Amino acid sequence: MFDLKGLIRPHLKDLVPYSSARDDYKGNDGVFLDANENPFGSITKENWNRYPDPYQYELKNKIGEIKRVSADRIFLGNGSDEPIDLLFRAFCEPGVDNVIINPPTYGMYKVSADINNVEVRETQLTNAFDLDVKSILDTVGERTKIVFICSPNNPTGNDVTLSRIEEVLKRFNGLVVVDEAYIDFTDRPSFIEKLNEYGNLIVLQTFSKAWGLAALRLGMAFCSQEILGVLNKIKAPYNLSGLTQRTVYNALENIETKDKMVDDILENRIQLKSDLECLGIVERVFPTNANFFLVKVRNASDVYRQLISKKIILRDRSKVVLCEDGIRITVGTKEENNALIQALKKL
Ligand SMILES: *Cc1c(COP(=O)(O)O)cnc(C)c1O
Repeated sequence: MFDLKGLIRPHLKDLVPYSSARDDYKGNDGVFLDANENPFGSITKENWNRYPDPYQYELKNKIGEIKRVSADRIFLGNGSDEPIDLLFRAFCEPGVDNVIINPPTYGMYKVSADINNVEVRETQLTNAFDLDVKSILDTVGERTKIVFICSPNNPTGNDVTLSRIEEVLKRFNGLVVVDEAYIDFTDRPSFIEKLNEYGNLIVLQTFSKAWGLAALRLGMAFCSQEILGVLNKIKAPYNLSGLTQRTVYNALENIETKDKMVDDILENRIQLKSDLECLGIVERVFPTNANFFLVKVRNASDVYRQLISKKIILRDRSKVVLCEDGIRITVGTKEENNALIQALKKL
């Protein structure tokens, strides 16, 4: 059975987290002489002289309404990078524990593991870029703490089979991270719906892609209250700036704008696919459920470099397993996509 207490690093079990006087007084009005802030205001037009809400309650309530999940199951971080890093720091003993990733996949899981000196075990996706559940379960050892699953997967673009994710959730007694950075571009439901069913599930989403807020750095993790308690205990007290909290809170009024942009991207995705498929150097455009394509082209690295000299920047994935001669292309505006197609025609 899944038991979170057996997963957490021993030295964190009795950790006393940082506390501030604002933990004892939650009101907005009062004489605040507890945090050595500047009492007059800021050097900017808007005032940022007070420390921000460490738990981002207002923002979480609003995100909770949109995502139909209770605010006490939401962790907000400085990009998805932060919850990924915190999971290693909370659950993986350096030099002892390990995690499993499914290449070809998002690079940050391994980078974060390497920074934290945590062993990474790799179980390659199948040739159809789907999860190999048997291989994952065979790779699990005594000290395996986390399995990272990315769907829609970066850099391949496809959703992995949902029943396979559920099989891992059921049969692995550690944590299962389902990274849904591209959830807005796919038709399938989010695994947020499954939080009540699986205590070991952590769903990652982000404001960096569909919402167009990459520069603000805001990532979300949805998980059990028990896991949330661990993450909250070890995070930096003021991990999200007041500017980010306020800006995103206000932006959440404009969901229709996000939906419109996603619709436009999906429309451009169809056109870009057919335009790419007409080109002689393109050998294969892989199916996608995201806002990018993995495309197999002849001499991918050359194509990549020639386009850079024309100031068109793609992502060279040709040295990545199962992605030989693969280039990852983000769906841009009509103008950007046309510029790419014209440049490819002239190669
Ligand atoms: C882009 C991306 C993210 C987003 O990371 P942020 O730190 O939130 O910007 C997360 N996961 C995957 C797979 C991505 O491709």
